Amino acid sequence: MKKKALITGVTGQDGAYLSEYLIKSGYKVFGAYRRSSTVNDWRLKTLGINDEIEFVEFDLLEFSNILRTIEKIKPDIIFNLAAQSFVSTSFEQPIVTSDINALGTMRILEAIKTLNHKIRFYQASTSEMFGMAQSKIQNEKTSFYPRSPYGVSKLFAHWAAINYRESYKMFVCSGILFNHESPLRGHEFVTKKIVSSLTNIKFGKQKTLKLGNIYSKRDWGYARDFIEGMFKIATADIADDYVLATGESHTIKEFCDMSAKYLKMDLIWKGEGINTKGINKKDGKTIIEIDKKFYRPSEVDFLIGDASKAKSKLNWVPKTKFKDLIKIMIDFEISLHK
Ligand code: NDP
Ligand code: GDP
Repeated sequence: MKKKALITGVTGQDGAYLSEYLIKSGYKVFGAYRRSSTVNDWRLKTLGINDEIEFVEFDLLEFSNILRTIEKIKPDIIFNLAAQSFVSTSFEQPIVTSDINALGTMRILEAIKTLNHKIRFYQASTSEMFGMAQSKIQNEKTSFYPRSPYGVSKLFAHWAAINYRESYKMFVCSGILFNHESPLRGHEFVTKKIVSSLTNIKFGKQKTLKLGNIYSKRDWGYARDFIEGMFKIATADIADDYVLATGESHTIKEFCDMSAKYLKMDLIWKGEGINTKGINKKDGKTIIEIDKKFYRPSEVDFLIGDASKAKSKLNWVPKTKFKDLIKIMIDFEISLHK
């Protein structure tokens, strides 16, 4: 009989790629989605896997729904990918963010504890928990210092996961994933915003791209590589926590430069701080502007991960380089114009 996996957040970037990966690996996939007036299934449609998933209505805010869903499906493994995952929104909606990300995780853990200790549980932890990073490169031993309600809520969930593992001997593991991107990344995240806007500008469909702080640094990997790591963490012999990262970090400005280069746009920068402008050298037009609206009340200035534990214990290494990630993302944007 096929193993059963329940994926919360199936309509998100990682939910879509993980579904595809698990289906290929012979799992029966139950996709937990929250009801809304329009189903957010563009990612699953893009991958063409809608018909292979059994969908279940599910909300992390509703304990009875979680309990009944798990009782009915009897999954072998649960991947908890659902979250209010956008840092900016967490400053505007800190309470609902905490309810979904922190208490939502606790609700699933309680349901597993109540129903069947043997169900494996994977928690989607995040490098945002490192926040004001306490060491130059971050790994499983680095202290946490979250800088947003999102980071705080994820840290609660992370410790809840560890606590349930230690208290009840449940198979609870987590992946502390650094930023990972793809053509299926949410449009509000900076990488997707940059590739889609610059491609639009190239095709004459948009005039300018407005950004916030372009000097923060992120360790950006490719989502498909990270999904493989997620699967290795969740199916390992021993439940543990692992950092997944590329070990390479770039500023947002560098992401813009690399994207413009791939699009064969000659991008030059003028001015400083809020007055920084990105100019298309060919026609002298301003294509990138800074807008204070996109600054955050507190920022995570730099993140760069050390995934050596995942390499040595799980034999996981990310395959896709920064430059190739940008190529994958822009090629997808270009295909939308054709
Ligand atoms: P997305 O934002 O793309 O997806 C989030 C998913 O959660 C969506 O399917 C969303 O549903 C669902 N969701 C939100 N609220 C609820 C709720 N109350 N009940 C049920 N489902 C809900 O995130 P990603 O796929 O990028 O990330 C997956 C996980 O990994 C998240 O937990 C994220 O915080 C974490 N993470 C992501 C990183 C990244 O770089 N991508 C890095 C580190 C951690 P809907 O479609 O209806 O909005
Ligand atoms: P995060 O690392 O989860 O917060 O991922 P984001 O893609 O949302 O943001 C990455 C970095 O880009 C942060 O330091 C943001 O402050 C910075 N940034 C600069 N301009 C923008 C913007 O217009 N949108 C977003 N989302 N982030 C921006």
